[in-house]
Amino acid sequence: MDTILRTHSRLELLHPHHGLAQRHSLSCARPPRGNQDAKVGAAKRPTYKWSGVACARAAGGGSGLLELVPETKKENLDFDLLMYDPSKGATVDLAVVGGGPAGLAVAQQVSQEGLSVCIIDPSPKLIWPNNYGVWVDEFKAMDMLDCLDTIWPGAVVHVDEATEKHLGRPYGRVNRKQLKSKMMQKCLLNGVRFHQAKVLKVIHEESKSFLICNDGATLQASLVLDATGFSRSLVQYDKPYNPGYQVAYGILAEVAEHPFDLDKMLFMDWRDSHLDGKKKLKERNSRIPTFLYAMPFSSNRIFLEETSLVARPGLAMEDIQERMVARLAHLGIKIKSVEEDERCVIPMGGPLPVLPQRVMGIGGTAGMVHPSTGYMVARTLAAAPIVASSIVKYLGSERGLSGEELSAEVWKDLWPIERRRQREFFCFGMDVLLKLDLEGTRRFFGAFFDLKPHYWHGFLSSRLFLPELILFGLSLFSHASNTSRLEIMTKGTLPLVNMVNNLVRDRD
Ligand SMILES: Cc1cc2nc3c(=O)[nH]c(=O)nc-3n(C[C@H](O)[C@H](O)[C@H](O)COP(=O)(O)OP(=O)(O)OC[C@H]3O[C@@H](n4cnc5c(N)ncnc54)[C@H](O)[C@@H]3O)c2cc1C
Repeated sequence: MDTILRTHSRLELLHPHHGLAQRHSLSCARPPRGNQDAKVGAAKRPTYKWSGVACARAAGGGSGLLELVPETKKENLDFDLLMYDPSKGATVDLAVVGGGPAGLAVAQQVSQEGLSVCIIDPSPKLIWPNNYGVWVDEFKAMDMLDCLDTIWPGAVVHVDEATEKHLGRPYGRVNRKQLKSKMMQKCLLNGVRFHQAKVLKVIHEESKSFLICNDGATLQASLVLDATGFSRSLVQYDKPYNPGYQVAYGILAEVAEHPFDLDKMLFMDWRDSHLDGKKKLKERNSRIPTFLYAMPFSSNRIFLEETSLVARPGLAMEDIQERMVARLAHLGIKIKSVEEDERCVIPMGGPLPVLPQRVMGIGGTAGMVHPSTGYMVARTLAAAPIVASSIVKYLGSERGLSGEELSAEVWKDLWPIERRRQREFFCFGMDVLLKLDLEGTRRFFGAFFDLKPHYWHGFLSSRLFLPELILFGLSLFSHASNTSRLEIMTKGTLPLVNMVNNLVRDRD
């Protein structure tokens, strides 16, 4: 099985910088903005060191960015966990493998209903490392605004040197310490047990499963939920795994100054004038473009991420870093210190896992990443109550369902036909994006952000289903320039045929 882990190592082998620092754990330092500050505890800033890593190109780029490496600092939440005692041989109702946002969200809600739950994770108290951004309306709909630490009233897209799109849709950064703390508190209150280990494999009997862990312990559970993210540890796939990859390099940095408006987050900057005079880099960027994503917290503190939206195979991390160094130098951004950095590799699209199967899944492991954007947090948190209530309903059912039957019902609720069709359309979107060069990508987003907000919001937030997605497609086509229409027709025909075939084949 070709997994993301393999892709990770391939990127690492090809590009030594990727291996320099594993994804670092992050400080809880918070952006000093407005009244949001009061919500967050005292910020602890990590110290920095100059790494001895040589990176001639980076240094030549003027910012010295890649020589600044945040000291690896893993921060744990201060909780006393209830631990599972494998020696007692108790069978829990639900074993949740993986304590990321997906796993905790389900564990919290299933335990709320009085079922016994155990979460197995190698670092259950660790604050999640990724810097998550979401549209504020997505979190508002779930009554989770207290889990955002910064809100920008709008966002901006630089389509090219001359064209800017101002998006009147507030964007927020997730306060992952707050989000995880809230979920953990609820789990602890509901009696959720924890086991600190990795699950290596699962053996199933008709009414229960045995989870074999890397510390030699075996846990028993009526149902098993795989929430292991992109490592896809337990769910099975029966089709070749051929996703596109979003690859990005991001830093949370202290800078001398930056040119961005503090009231807007920079959703996408497709400008490429920073590559003038860098012939090879410019050529590479015009074939497979990258954009800058930025969250300006203050005049001298900013999260900057150079991102390849989607490519197959994924773009090399070193290439992305080189483009970022050139961009920051061009924008006059001098990095004084790096608080956090993240190397992001997100598999997008590709097949869904086998539906149904005995192990249930949610989040990255269950194909829930938006295939055209790489976003997932809001969608997963919104799906968690569906999975949780399905587990509670069928586990408590008088029908005496076997383990296989139970998980089949839960999979059906997670991936009903409307959601599978929606995902198929998003995969079609990804297939088109994969074929676009810089100019095509600019034309695409120029038309995309001219659509009615109902369409582009709905597309990005997985709120449109197939009939509306078809209207979205037609609307996009009507907003496109003639060149773009021709491009969509030539480059989109094969993906369209594939999508239609898949839609016809997939029935309930
Ligand atoms: C760097 C980065 C930035 C991202 N930014 C955004 C964003 O801004 N907005 C957005 O919507 N999405 C974003 N995503 C995409 C997605 O939302 C995240 O990857 C999200 O963390 C996935 O949540 P999850 O709970 O499915 O998996 P994860 O958060 O990856 O959690 C999985 C957990 O399972 C544990 N685990 C793995 N294997 C085992 C095992 N065998 N046994 C026990 N435990 C195991 C891991 O240690 C981890 O704790 C980002 C992804 C990355 C990589």
